[in-house]
Amino acid sequence: MALREYNKKRVFNKTPEPRGGKPAKDALHFVVQKHDATRLHYDFRLEMKGVLKSWAIPKGPSLNPDDRRLAMMVEDHPYDYKDFEGIIPEGNYGAGTVIVWDEGTYETLEPKKSIKEEEKSLLAQLKSGSLKFRLFGKKLKGEFALVHIKNNNGSGENAWLLIKHRDDFASTTDISKKAKSVLSDKSIAQMGKDKNADQWISKPKNKSSSKSKKTQ
Ligand code: MN
Repeated sequence: MALREYNKKRVFNKTPEPRGGKPAKDALHFVVQKHDATRLHYDFRLEMKGVLKSWAIPKGPSLNPDDRRLAMMVEDHPYDYKDFEGIIPEGNYGAGTVIVWDEGTYETLEPKKSIKEEEKSLLAQLKSGSLKFRLFGKKLKGEFALVHIKNNNGSGENAWLLIKHRDDFASTTDISKKAKSVLSDKSIAQMGKDKNADQWISKPKNKSSSKSKKTQ
């Protein structure tokens, strides 16, 4: 099952992170979350077949085609994760603060007629180790590629590079300076201090099972 690894790492009555989700049918979505965990990083996620294919990018995405950003592929995340921001409490996997740094829709460079065909193409590209797509985000726009690094020493077999293609949206402006959430307009620091932030607790299955006390 696609989410087995994701589920295995988490205890869902202790973390506010989502468990599932049903994809919208109109378009494929992407999200970039800024995650202040053990190390600050960005999580880049592309919707494919109802889950989010995910890469952790230490330096975050860049609009500069000369930058090649190391992107470590991690386990698939549930579709609803794209809307998640808040605080993952201490003691949980990935403990720390998360904001939705960017989000939007995306497509292949030669968009197909249906989402199904788009996904088929994307999964084939993913398998081949070279994935090209166009983002329609609030911060990230235009063409990008994710390229699997093969046979490299050191960073392991999950290492990819995120590279901006040269197009009208390529720029040497440091996009990381736009640091706030596109959902709440909060910075990581503001979210971390927000007393309401950790209320995004998954709803208990039945009321008697828990009086979900806010924990941090
Ligand atoms: Mn992360």
